[in-house]
Amino acid sequence: MRQANERVAIVTGASRGIGRAVALKLAADGFAITVNYAGNTERANETVAEIEATGGRALAVQGDVADAAAVEHLFTATREAFGRLDVVVNSAGVMQMANITTDNLESFDRTLSTNLRGSWLVMAKAAETLGEGGRIIALSSSVLGKSFPGYGAYIASKAGVEGLVKVLANELRGREITVNAVAPGPVATELFFAGKSDEQVAKIAAMSPFERLGQPEEIADAVAFLAGSQGRWVNGQILRVNGGMV
Ligand code: NDP
Repeated sequence: MRQANERVAIVTGASRGIGRAVALKLAADGFAITVNYAGNTERANETVAEIEATGGRALAVQGDVADAAAVEHLFTATREAFGRLDVVVNSAGVMQMANITTDNLESFDRTLSTNLRGSWLVMAKAAETLGEGGRIIALSSSVLGKSFPGYGAYIASKAGVEGLVKVLANELRGREITVNAVAPGPVATELFFAGKSDEQVAKIAAMSPFERLGQPEEIADAVAFLAGSQGRWVNGQILRVNGGMV
């Protein structure tokens, strides 16, 4: 059932990890949510079911954020289902470890395609669609401040995202739409754990003064701040949410 004053958010990459936590948090804050995902229909449907179980409204929409037609469909389906759009969170992302070598170009292309081209498309469509009071929130990464070996493609993609955020905030002059990025430190999700030994995980976790990994909900709270009325004067910023790692 539609609530009075219901607002609407698209969250990309919301079948799992940080995007899922953002979708649940924004739903708890009274948003209807479009749950975007790449291929994991079962997990996306679980996010939707969890939102609906607490009385919220949600819709799962499959679509590759790097595909312009899929992004167009994502926004159209949201308008058809919910009739308006207030907030767009682009959490869809991939991380592939690859040293900067001539034979790792494929990892570079794939990472840039999802993380940077995808951000361009989602942010551009959000800019076209949102009205006054709208919020655009991208996901960067605090690993930019560390320059670890093997993170070249990933860091390049996220440095690009941070650039887009600042330029778009300026391009939207006069429209009362904020554009920001949240840049998490290491967070306990599948993206972070993939390919790491327990020892590597422990070493990275120990880098923050809190000596632990972040939890998806801790990132979602920062996103919700930017999406809510208390974040209205924050614009063109990169909010590092990492327990003090960098
Ligand atoms: P996960 O791997 O847990 O989840 C990734 C999500 O993105 C899934 O929902 C996946 O869908 C979706 N996705 C992947 N590729 C695409 C695509 N091309 N189009 C649409 N959806 C896609 O990742 P996290 O939650 O950890 O990461 C979320 C964001 O946070 C990313 O941008 C990441 O770079 C950033 N980040 C993560 C950190 C961490 O330590 N975890 C640290 C800093 C930043 P499906 O389930 O269908 O595959």
